[in-house]
Parts: sequence; C-alpha cells; structure tokens
Amino acid sequence: DLKRVTRALLSVSDKAGLVDFARALHERGVELLSTGGTRAALAAAGLPVRDVSDVTGFPEMMDGRVKTLHPKVHGGLLAIRENPEHQAAMLAHGIAPIDLLVVNLYPFEATVAAGHGEDECIENIDIGGPAMIRAAAKNHADVAVVVDVADYGAVLADLEAHGGAVTRTLRRRLAHKAYARTAAYDAAISNWFGGRLGDDTPVIRALGGTLAEPMRYGENPHQAAGFYRTAESRPGVATARQVQGKQLSYNNINDTDAAFECVAEFDPARTAAVVIVKHANPCGVAEGESLIDAYERALRCDPVSAFGGIVAVNRTLDGDAARRIVEIFTEVIIAPDATEEAIGLVGAKKNLRLLLTGGLPDPRQGGLALRTVAGGFLAQNRDNAVVDDMDLRVVTKRPPDARELADLRFAFRVAKHVKSNAIVYARDGATVGIGAGQMSRVDSSRIAAWKAAEAAKAAGLGDSLAVGSVVASDAFFPFADGLLAAAEAGATAVIQPGGSMRDDEVIRAADEAGLAMVFTGHRHFRH
Ligand code: 5GP
Repeated sequence: DLKRVTRALLSVSDKAGLVDFARALHERGVELLSTGGTRAALAAAGLPVRDVSDVTGFPEMMDGRVKTLHPKVHGGLLAIRENPEHQAAMLAHGIAPIDLLVVNLYPFEATVAAGHGEDECIENIDIGGPAMIRAAAKNHADVAVVVDVADYGAVLADLEAHGGAVTRTLRRRLAHKAYARTAAYDAAISNWFGGRLGDDTPVIRALGGTLAEPMRYGENPHQAAGFYRTAESRPGVATARQVQGKQLSYNNINDTDAAFECVAEFDPARTAAVVIVKHANPCGVAEGESLIDAYERALRCDPVSAFGGIVAVNRTLDGDAARRIVEIFTEVIIAPDATEEAIGLVGAKKNLRLLLTGGLPDPRQGGLALRTVAGGFLAQNRDNAVVDDMDLRVVTKRPPDARELADLRFAFRVAKHVKSNAIVYARDGATVGIGAGQMSRVDSSRIAAWKAAEAAKAAGLGDSLAVGSVVASDAFFPFADGLLAAAEAGATAVIQPGGSMRDDEVIRAADEAGLAMVFTGHRHFRH
C-alpha cells in the first residue's frame, strides 16, 4: 500500500512553506509541475520546475480562470495506475501520472471577510483547484493530495520513512481532509450568495420560500437578488414553463406578474383579452373578438410605450396573435397555453421569452402580499376585490347607458392594476389613455387625457381617443378638478369608489357636465 511519488503538481495561493517543501521534494528526485505564480516562486528559489502550460500545451487564460483544467492534468490525477485501459489511454494521449497534488485555494473566505465587492469575491472562487483536489482525492488509491500547509511535514515524514513513497493510511487521511476542504469552500461560497440574496431573512423563512433561481441582479445592477417560489398554487410567472428565450430578469418577472394578474381579470369564456405592461403598469389593455383583435386595440392605446413591453393574453396564444406580437420588440409573452404554430412563430425571436402557465390565476383568490420597510415588513391580503362583485351605485342624475356601463366596469377592472394615482380612460373594451403613479389625481387625469390625444395622433385620428370614452379612478376624486379634466378630455361617464368629504361637490360637478357617474364603494390603491 505504498505509492512512490515521482511527479508533483503544486498550485498554491498561500505560498507559506512552499519553497522548503518543494526543495525537499526535489531533493528526493520528485519532478515539480506548477502554475504561473507558484512556478515563479519556485524558480526564484532556484528550483527546477516545469510549467503546467508546458504540459497541457495551453497558456493560462482568462485571468487564471483556466489554468489546469485539461485532460493532461486531470488524466494524470485520475488514471488508475493498475488499470490496463487507463494505462493505454495515458499512453495514447501522452498523459503522465501525477502522484502528489499540492493545492490551496484562492482565498475566497478571506476576500469576503475583507469586505471586498462582488466582482472581487467572484474572481476568488477557485475552479481548477477544487477540481484537481476532488480528482486527486477520488484517486487516493494512487495519489496523495495536500490542501493544508500544515500537512507538508507529515508528507515529508512519510516519504522519508518509506523511501520516497506515501502510505495508504496517509493518502486516505489526506483525501478525507481534501473533501472536507472543498465542501467547506463551496459552503462558504453558497453562504455568501445566500447573504447577498437575503436568503436567511426571517421573512423568507416564514414564507417557506425556496430559491427558484439566483438572479444576475435586482431592479438595478448593483442590487443582488433572488427569485423565490412559495407553496402557493397559483398559475403565474413563478410556476410557468419557459418555452424559450433568455433568462428572465428581476424586472421582467415583476412586470410579467403584473401583466398576467391583470389579464386574469378577464374571463376567457366571455372575451379574449390582452395586457401590455411596462414598468409594472399596463400601457394598453383590451378585450376583443380574438387575441389579435385585442392585441391591436391594446397596442393602439400607447404604441410608444409598448416597445420592449410584456404581453399577457388570457387564452391559448394562436398563430395570428403571435405573428403580430413578434413584429414589435417584446420582452416576454405569457399565456395559459400556445398552439404549435404560435410557438414556432415566437421561436423565430431567440431572445423573446415565452411563458406558458397552464391556466389563469383566480382574481378572487386570497393570498399574501408583502413589502419591506426599514426594520420590518408589511403584510396584507392580496387585493382580490372584483368589480363584478361590487354594488355599483349611480350617483348622478343621468345613469350610464349599457355601453358606458360595460366600459366603466372594464376601466375599473384595469385601474386595479395601475399604480396609484390611477386614471384609466376606456372605450369599447379597450383602454385609450392611462395615467399612472402620479402624486396628485388631477395630474394622473391630465396625463391620461394627454396620452389619449397622443394615441389618436399616432393612429392618424383627428379626435382624442378619450372623446366618447369613460373614465375610472382607483380612489375617490378629492376635488372636482380631476373629474372636470376628464369631462373636458371627452369622457362621458365616470366610475370611482366615492367616499370623499366633498362627494356632493363632485357629484354636482358631474351633473353640471352631463356625466354619468357610479360609485363602487371599493378602492383599488396600488403602490
Ligand atoms: P498561481 O499562484 O500558481 O498562479 O495559482 C495558484 C492558484 O490557482 C491555486 O489556488 C489553485 O487552486 C488555482 N488554480 C489552479 N488551476 C486553476 C484553474 O484552472 N482555474 C482556477 N480558477 N484556479 C486554478
């Protein structure tokens, strides 16, 4: 059970004790192989040493990421010396055995402990070192592997005691230590990632979230992020099958979720529907005879913003719709399902992601919505209120007619998914102007009206698309001004929760403007 050491590969980041150890090996007639920095240290001490590059025929490359990852190295470590086939392979490929491996790894732990940035830490993840260590330890029947400077003495003592050979006992002990080292090393890397991702936060533990995918970064490149899956069964972005396209980013996932949750408000048995989302806000939503019809109408609302958007559909994506959608630069399409033809058409755009969920989520389903605040987090139930379930109260002299009422319901359904303050103009089951995320409701009203006018221009139409439309507000109009801005833009009917101190004033203004207005009694703030 003695194995003679004739050739050693030394590749160490921590060069303490290296020269003395290598000199002792050399004096025993052991041939020395080394990587760049290690080789330089040994050569400087006057020791004859061969460069691994010389053995592999490849230079070290990519900032040292690739140095020893080569069959000439790994074959030399892994070949079973007694096995004729392995011997034949060594002979055929000019692989020389390596009997002693001396490696200590890039100082990943120390780099993290020193507080270095992400790039520096990642560069200190050793790849070739652990690969060699694991290979040598696997083949401990023939190879001795040293991962700790503290073991140099033991190896020399063994060589001394056994005429230049090491015992099986020592090789096994070293192999055991080697795997402990690579396991600890990988654990350190994994823990570091976990810390970067907030993996160990109590919130994630409480939710039972499991990391579905580490992400390249969060909302911005300097933010680490992860994508977690919970036990909640709800068709959507977290459980969808990605048919094609590159990896989803943090923002893609957030936007795709917003789009799909919105489109799920539309019962596919009643109507086809399409939602186009940018920055988590819908920039076009429409019902239609078919998906392509709905898509055309959704797109008309804001064709500029739709560029680079996320498209969600509520029915099986068909070829007609897919063909039209891929004409415009789109980041993601999410659908309950897709025809073979549609999959083929989307396939022509390699980067475009296609997600199939197998169904639509139920907008009435309860569930948890979370956000963090400094030193804590907020939890609430999902906003699962649906306009169809609300008692709509007509508050103006004129009640809405049937067409207005249908559009009012449509607009309020969409407003639920627009960031507050949300103002949504709609006509014939399509949004025509959306004002999102403003700090004052009247500003949202103005923006929505302006967007409706822009959309008309883009479509080559004379009148603003808001003319003859209805308008929804996610929360009550605190003053009449926002409502009057809507009337001025051409809206004929209004839907809003009601409940303002000045409701009377607002109702009077609506009556004076000849508007029909209904109160829902439900607010749809969304922040
Ligand atoms: P040197 O100072 O000799 O240039 O580099 C020694 C270090 O490189 C050791 O820590 C060793 O584990 C590591 N190393 C050896 N081969 C490879 C490789 O192919 N890829 C990477 N990333 N590290 C390697």
